[in-house]
Amino acid sequence: MLDAAQALSSGATTAGLPAGLQAARRDPGMPEAPREGLAAHHALYVLAIEQMPQGLSMFDADDRLLVANRRYRDLWHLPDALCQPGARFGDLMAANPATELPCHDPYLAEATEAGQPSRRRREWQLRDGRIIGVTITRLPGGACVALHEDITEQRRNQQQVAYLARHDALTGLPNRAQLSDELTRQLPRVHRGEELALLYLDLDRFKSVNDTLGHAAGDLLLRRVAERLRAGAREGDLIARLGGDEFAILQTGTTQPAGSTALAKRLIEALSQPFDLDGHQVHIGTSVGVAVAPFDGDHAEALIKSADLALYRAKAAGRGVLRYFEPEMDARMQLRRQLENDLRGAIARGEFELAFQAQVAADSHAVVGVEALIRWNHPVRGRVSPADFIPLAEETGLIIPIGVWVLRQACLAAMAWPAPVRIAVNLSPVQFKSRTLLRDVLDALHDSGLPPQRLELEITEAVLLDDTEQALSVLHAMRERGIRISMDDFGTGYSSLSYLRRFPFDKIKIDRSFIQDAALGGDALAIVGAISSLGRSLGMSTTAEGVETDEQLAAVCAAGCVEVQGYLFSRPGPAGDIAALIAGRTPPGLPVAAPAAAAPSEPGASCSNDSST
Ligand code: C2E
Ligand code: MG
Ligand code: MG
Repeated sequence: MLDAAQALSSGATTAGLPAGLQAARRDPGMPEAPREGLAAHHALYVLAIEQMPQGLSMFDADDRLLVANRRYRDLWHLPDALCQPGARFGDLMAANPATELPCHDPYLAEATEAGQPSRRRREWQLRDGRIIGVTITRLPGGACVALHEDITEQRRNQQQVAYLARHDALTGLPNRAQLSDELTRQLPRVHRGEELALLYLDLDRFKSVNDTLGHAAGDLLLRRVAERLRAGAREGDLIARLGGDEFAILQTGTTQPAGSTALAKRLIEALSQPFDLDGHQVHIGTSVGVAVAPFDGDHAEALIKSADLALYRAKAAGRGVLRYFEPEMDARMQLRRQLENDLRGAIARGEFELAFQAQVAADSHAVVGVEALIRWNHPVRGRVSPADFIPLAEETGLIIPIGVWVLRQACLAAMAWPAPVRIAVNLSPVQFKSRTLLRDVLDALHDSGLPPQRLELEITEAVLLDDTEQALSVLHAMRERGIRISMDDFGTGYSSLSYLRRFPFDKIKIDRSFIQDAALGGDALAIVGAISSLGRSLGMSTTAEGVETDEQLAAVCAAGCVEVQGYLFSRPGPAGDIAALIAGRTPPGLPVAAPAAAAPSEPGASCSNDSST
């Protein structure tokens, strides 16, 4: 076979050559160019063939080499001396045992179709790991032209893409797509009498690890969780990561629900053991929701939905909980979704309003503050209790715009009351996740003209549970501006006392549950007394929440509470009622508590109904 240099120097002239070759001719690095005629054309073709990025070979109908370029020789590691016109294909391949290519021409064996050129593509996996793709065109006379490419990289990338499409990159576990395919594959067995369980898992407290130790630690934790799941599941179970801190296990081949109960319990136990993340001990846990086919869904989508609902209920019930799907969960979820939709437009439609409840001095019964309590007037459902929609608003993040609305309305309302009567506004822990909380509070004060000293923000200890530092810095910034901060529902959490050390609250509001029993004496009364004296020594005021009866009032006064709040003095109602209460007048339908001395026997004890409900 001629090489390009030979062709170019084969004695032809440069006259009549294309401009490109003329230029090449002037390049001192190039050999003599051909001059004219057949030789010149031949040289051009050879040059073009030699420059091709693909390997090219052509064999005649007798299996003898007609043309082969350098790339072909390189790809198949063929020595130049052997790869000459006339060489037999079989000899070429036999000379190269490194290739997997069989020692006969694979494509000459193919039949020609009615005198038409036929084209096929083959891929060869070589012993050295390379993959060569060959496109073979067989001409009517029996000769073959083949183009050869090294497609190793291309195939590797495709395999990688295919792998990533079905696996989670962080843990290497199958992903949601693979789980769904596997479910679709396995579900027909259910119709043949087998049972199958789908377990959905969501880690408890994962977010706080991610927030406090950083994403690298979070990633490491997820990998460790995947290892424990692998160790806890059986060989045939498919473990998938669905994203975030959610995992799923498809369990087949066992009796249900016994199989899934045992597995879920094992995993709850395994994940409740501490994890060591580069020296940091972290405690998480998992909640598990289970759906069993065919009872809870006989196609993939339905079963996934049931498992998801069961998990949702498990999470709502607390940490480390296992829940099986029950049909009524679906109805409840639909109701919730409907409520969530309604909640989205509620501010714009003006469906919220504030009810106000007075906080009075325990000794004089003078109104010292007023708590703003949100009410939702739903067009169909009527008045929806905050206990029903605040958690939903928190979950969806809608509490942030709602909270801004409450702050602004409450500050504006308070401007109608004389100083120093304060307005108390409840803040949700979720609002502390908003970067604009401090700004929103200051704007509400600025726009209403209310002095900061007249605003009291009520938080629960849940605010300090996650991302404590960030919350504390916002609280300090508020307090530095003169805003008062009180600890609401004190005594209901796990570590209320420890939080009193972390922040200088202005006030402790003792939870209603203690007050209700305080009149009976005993432990509850002792606790109220202890909290009051603790507050005194820490320089914090104390408020007894939910005082409904004269006996309770007498008990909390004796226990040393500084302020009281409850139906005995005021039910949550319109702003106008509060103005009247402050002025010492009794608005229609709202009897006012009598002065301190007479309180226990006065009509204050028989307050009207909650005028807000
Ligand atoms: P909270 O802040 O502890 O408010 C006191 C709750 O106790 C109010 O319930 C109030 O109506 C009720 N209450 C007051 N005195 C008595 C009494 O003597 N007896 C009884 N049985 N209950 C009494 P409400 O208005 O249903 O609010 C429930 C909770 O919803 C509030 O508890 C607060 O945590 C939350 N909430 C209310 N409004 C808002 C708001 O604007 N933003 C946020 N984030 N949460 C709010
Ligand atoms: Mg409150
Ligand atoms: Mg409270």
